[in-house]
Amino acid sequence: MRPIQDYYPHLCNKQNIVITMHQKPDGDAMGSTLGLYHFLANLGHNVSVISPTNWAAFLDWMPGASAVLDYEKDKAAADKLIDNANTIFCLDFNVMYRTKNMEQPLMDATCTKILIDHHRQPQEEVFTYGISNIYKSSTCEMVYDFIIESGYASLLDRNIATCLYTGIMTDTGSFRFPSTTASVHLAVAHFKELGIDHTAIHENVFDSFLENRLKFLGNSLMNRMEVLYEYNTAIMVIPKSDLVKFNTKTGDTEGFVNYLLSIDGIRFAALVIDRTEERKWSFRSKGNFDVNNFARMHFSGGGHKNAAGGSTYDSLETTVQRFKEILPGYQNELSNL
Ligand code: 5GP
Ligand code: MN
Repeated sequence: MRPIQDYYPHLCNKQNIVITMHQKPDGDAMGSTLGLYHFLANLGHNVSVISPTNWAAFLDWMPGASAVLDYEKDKAAADKLIDNANTIFCLDFNVMYRTKNMEQPLMDATCTKILIDHHRQPQEEVFTYGISNIYKSSTCEMVYDFIIESGYASLLDRNIATCLYTGIMTDTGSFRFPSTTASVHLAVAHFKELGIDHTAIHENVFDSFLENRLKFLGNSLMNRMEVLYEYNTAIMVIPKSDLVKFNTKTGDTEGFVNYLLSIDGIRFAALVIDRTEERKWSFRSKGNFDVNNFARMHFSGGGHKNAAGGSTYDSLETTVQRFKEILPGYQNELSNL
């Protein structure tokens, strides 16, 4: 992978560009791809955004979201765009399996592939150019840096700023995580100068749920949570029957795992959801406990030091039992936090 700076000279040649992200995109994936989309469109490129799967409805309001293709719904059109692309930007993921059914077409594509991402341990060999920086708060912050350093900062506008603010806000836990540096706040100040309405963005993302999502959350906290005080750990286990009972939709479990970390003394939080195709884990930690390593080692996953995910094809019961068997091996690490 060559440094992304080497790609800047190519920005002035008009191209077909595809931008993609990880499956079930979150605010940072959608914000960074759409922010880059508006920027490259402003530069005159022919740009398309493809998501490997559908996404939460609380991202639908974002400028440009209605033009995003869902690979699972629009496979033929998306494959054609990938075939005709001169450049593919891969944002907010760094291993191709995170694009699910798009993995093969992306691997097969022979065009220029560019990585912009902040997760640990990138699959560097599959990208032509790229930047990977685990110290960045979000991919949105990195897209902002990319635009500034490209020499085309004058093309920044309110739409780009709105998209990038959204991902920085969601990936920093609304500016509370340690990754929220002075540079993050300076970027946000620039977004305000460009005219973003930050109050509207917060409301669009956090205050647009349906009643049943709150009842689902209430039930999950009341009946599906277990606190393992001897390990400073809390776990939440959501069976498929709950997903059906509360008529849940993509994105409805976003943020659930953070409630576990709000218990005094809890440093490690684990949420597992019984999805149709897999049992999906979300891990969060405070301080030095490295959930990226934990996810990678035990549940074929990865992510960041304090936020990671993984999955298994075991049954819900088996995966929870396995988690509880693994935990004592970390007792020293977890009790010394
Ligand atoms: P979440 O728990 O919110 O789904 O994910 C937490 C973080 O871990 C995100 O940055 C996400 O991109 C990453 N992540 C989630 N699942 C996986 C996975 O299966 N593999 C890898 N490598 N990263 C994941
Ligand atoms: Mn991110």
